[in-house]
Amino acid sequence: PSSYKVVVIGGGAGGLSVASTLSEKLGSGEVAVVEPSPVHNQQPLWTFVGAGIKSMAETQRPTSELIPQGSVWIKEAAAEIDPDQNSVKLANGQKINYDYLVVAAGIKLDFEAVKGLSSAIGKNGVASNYSADYVEKTWEYLQNFKGGNAVFTMPSTPIKCAGAPQKIAYLAEEYLREKGLRDKSNIVYNTGLGKIFAIDKYAEALTKVAESRGVKVNLFHDLVEVKPEERKAIFKITGSTPAGPVGETVEIPYDFLHVTPPMKAHEFLKNSKLSNGVGFVDVDQSTLRHTKYKNVYSLGDCSSLPTSKTAAAVAAQSGVVKDNLLANINGVETPTSTYNGYTSCPLITGKNKLILAEFSGYTGKPLETFAFDQSKENPFSYWLTSSVIPNIYWNSFLSGSWRGPGPFRRFLNPGDSN
Ligand code: FAD
Repeated sequence: PSSYKVVVIGGGAGGLSVASTLSEKLGSGEVAVVEPSPVHNQQPLWTFVGAGIKSMAETQRPTSELIPQGSVWIKEAAAEIDPDQNSVKLANGQKINYDYLVVAAGIKLDFEAVKGLSSAIGKNGVASNYSADYVEKTWEYLQNFKGGNAVFTMPSTPIKCAGAPQKIAYLAEEYLREKGLRDKSNIVYNTGLGKIFAIDKYAEALTKVAESRGVKVNLFHDLVEVKPEERKAIFKITGSTPAGPVGETVEIPYDFLHVTPPMKAHEFLKNSKLSNGVGFVDVDQSTLRHTKYKNVYSLGDCSSLPTSKTAAAVAAQSGVVKDNLLANINGVETPTSTYNGYTSCPLITGKNKLILAEFSGYTGKPLETFAFDQSKENPFSYWLTSSVIPNIYWNSFLSGSWRGPGPFRRFLNPGDSN
């Protein structure tokens, strides 16, 4: 058939978790998942791959094994959405129709936005944990590093997991110390933003970590060009810093360069009527329903939700989308399940320590699950992130039963109504 009760665009974290529950509730053949990739990536594990702690194989599974039972897998990319006709055009030209649409297509890496980067990446010491193609290069180049400048970048665009650009800097610092190369190495973290982390509580803790570990943090330094022949990275000064006036550029020579590329919305979303202007799917931040098209929902990195883009946020969002969509299908017009902006970033600072940021991107307030102060580095949070959460991701989240730690937080913190 070319018509489905629900079409889900994207078989990543958000798409599969929603499709699983909907398939279970609606029965076989009612839900279609549009996903071109034969491989599903558990991207949060890539930080560990880049630091040589986990293998790439541990982060990947065939999409065929993860498509929920009863869902139809359409192995194509979505190319156009026409929400007035309730139709999606696929890259092969075929059209499919839906009663309800869920958009969970993620965010696009934009290597082209930095001059020289597309040709430099993956060669001669330039790597990125953000891409399946280059994450293993991070570990290869770290092992080859003999001292000099190890430079880590963070762009000024919205990105997924805003902590990941600095996690790898701390892991690299630890590795070089263990290898006896720390004295010969400068570790530099250049961010295009004016703070090391958006939420003050964790920013203060991270500033101390960086200082104590000798990681030089340069704020308002946005990567604009890579010159691989000269091994130089060029940064534009985007705010007040001792390095020079706003608008000027500074050159930093590198021996190892870890790039977090700028990111942007997919073109097919930007060109659609669902877009909020910059290309993210324009949804109500509380109900996750489209602001104009009532039979459309969106979650995750491709949505307009003003919170930090993480899989942890997607888990909490997935519960809300499922509740509201199923209510709509059952004839309830007004959605009642709401999302509070919950997101989490496990800030790995070493092989057995981690700052577990959990907060609402809407209020900026911490929403910590546990009773201890999660802004302090500790081995329990590391164990949770490296050993427990990856299993939750494969076994409970993708199969629809994990909606984030909200119920635990409310149980462990009675009186917290968030
Ligand atoms: P994705 O999981 O990216 O899925 C999007 C899917 O859409 C993909 O399968 C893609 O193939 C598909 N798609 C793309 N275009 C189309 C199209 N045209 N048609 C159909 N399908 C399409 N999160 C955390 O919670 N904790 C962490 O520690 C963490 N660390 C991270 C570290 C790194 C290095 C990276 C890269 C990410 C990290 N994240 C982390 C972020 C997390 O991986 C994402 O926020 C999460 O995967 C978002 O889920 P999503 O469903 O929105 O998008």
